Amino acid sequence: MQNITVIGGGLAGALVLGGLVWFVATRRGKKKNSASNNKLASSLRDERAKSDFILNAIEDGVVFVGEDGSIGLFNPGAAKITGWEQADAQGLEWKSVFEFVDAKGAPVPDDVTPFIRAQRSTQPIHDNTANIKGKSGKVIAVSFTVSPLVDKGKVNALVAVLRDVSAERQEAAQRAEFISTASHEMRTPVAAIEGYLSLALNEKVATIDSRAKDFLEKAHASARHLGELFQDLLTSSKAEDGRLTNHPEVVEMGGFMEQLTSDLHFAAQKKNLVMEFTIGNDSVLNDQVIDASAPPSFANQKVVRPLYFVQVDPDRIREVITNLFDNACKYTDKGKISLGLTGNDKVVQLYIRDTGHGIPPEDVPHLFEKFYRVDNSATRTIGGTGLGLFICRKIVELYHGRIWLESKLGEGSSFYINLPRLSTQQAEALQAKQEAEPKAVDAEVSLNDIPSTPETTTAPSTGVPTTPGNPTP
Ligand code: ADP
Repeated sequence: MQNITVIGGGLAGALVLGGLVWFVATRRGKKKNSASNNKLASSLRDERAKSDFILNAIEDGVVFVGEDGSIGLFNPGAAKITGWEQADAQGLEWKSVFEFVDAKGAPVPDDVTPFIRAQRSTQPIHDNTANIKGKSGKVIAVSFTVSPLVDKGKVNALVAVLRDVSAERQEAAQRAEFISTASHEMRTPVAAIEGYLSLALNEKVATIDSRAKDFLEKAHASARHLGELFQDLLTSSKAEDGRLTNHPEVVEMGGFMEQLTSDLHFAAQKKNLVMEFTIGNDSVLNDQVIDASAPPSFANQKVVRPLYFVQVDPDRIREVITNLFDNACKYTDKGKISLGLTGNDKVVQLYIRDTGHGIPPEDVPHLFEKFYRVDNSATRTIGGTGLGLFICRKIVELYHGRIWLESKLGEGSSFYINLPRLSTQQAEALQAKQEAEPKAVDAEVSLNDIPSTPETTTAPSTGVPTTPGNPTP
């Protein structure tokens, strides 16, 4: 076996050994005459006593899933977390033991479970947000690390390490609740301060001398910044504990982006930045490039183009694109901002590209973290909270999408978003369902109905990449 993902120290040894014993023993049944397999199995069995000792001693759950999806090893830690007896769980398909659900106990699609993701991506998956239904039916918050055992590109087995994180999640929820209440309460007085400062600065309402005006302008800018901070804090804490209002519906991203681009172009114009919007792939004949710096008149354009259907809350996705666009404007002094929309049969890809300051490579992996701001002269003088990209990531993940960026310092940045694409038939069926029973569907069109972003790297039809490493649209 090659490329075996090792989890760390003694645990890794125990896991791999335990797994191998089971794996070889299983195979042996298929190839009875294989003397070398027998020898290997017996020498590994000698080591099993040691690995059993470690597996039984650790508190974390450890589970080994074979090629056929059945559970080969299920340590006492896993039994304690899930409520399943070791003997009952062993031999069952993993799906029978690990019923993945959302925080309210509703089932989640298989594609988003760490087992399927690890199997498809052939990479270890760390999932700190999962919930499972224990044997008794209780919803348990669990963090998973699922590592595939890969041989010649094929996943032969999966090793899962799990931990009950109910207490941690409860604490995080309490923290978020506090931040959310505090920021909600503080927004009102801050809005009042901002309002009174605006009145004081209004020449028709108040008379002030030029020195006082200067002070008040500074106070006004700070109050506005504080208001934005509270708003972002409120949104981010809601995003964290799943309270963000979310009404997904079928949205055709082409039309949606045209409208949004026309709303956004004033901000680019203000900074003398050229703004461009492209729909489709560069190689496709019916592409259209729209100079969005000019006042748009999309209604008059009759262009045949692909329809890019997704299922999202339009308000939320507008928030994401506007945030990325505002950043592009904020951190670009001259040049161009390009917005684009492309896709293949599985994915709709949006991009926002600028010719701005760029982002140092060491900051790129942290950019979507809460409060992260690049510390350089540009950001020190440009106001911000460091919460915008965190909120963007949370929203995109809500729709099983991905967001990532590429940047070259001094040359500019490109932010990409992939969302699962609905076929025209799927879109029509969902639309008909929504129209037929608007209220019920509102609740029912849950994220479970949204196909998750596939783990494939390139779709042959258009060649649109779907992984962070290769995002050229
Ligand atoms: P902020 O409110 O600080 O803009 P964000 O979360 O939106 O917060 O962005 C985090 C940081 O990422 C910013 O402070 C900035 O350093 C960097 N950043 C985001 N977008 C861009 C961009 N288009 N070009 C250069 N830097 C960017």
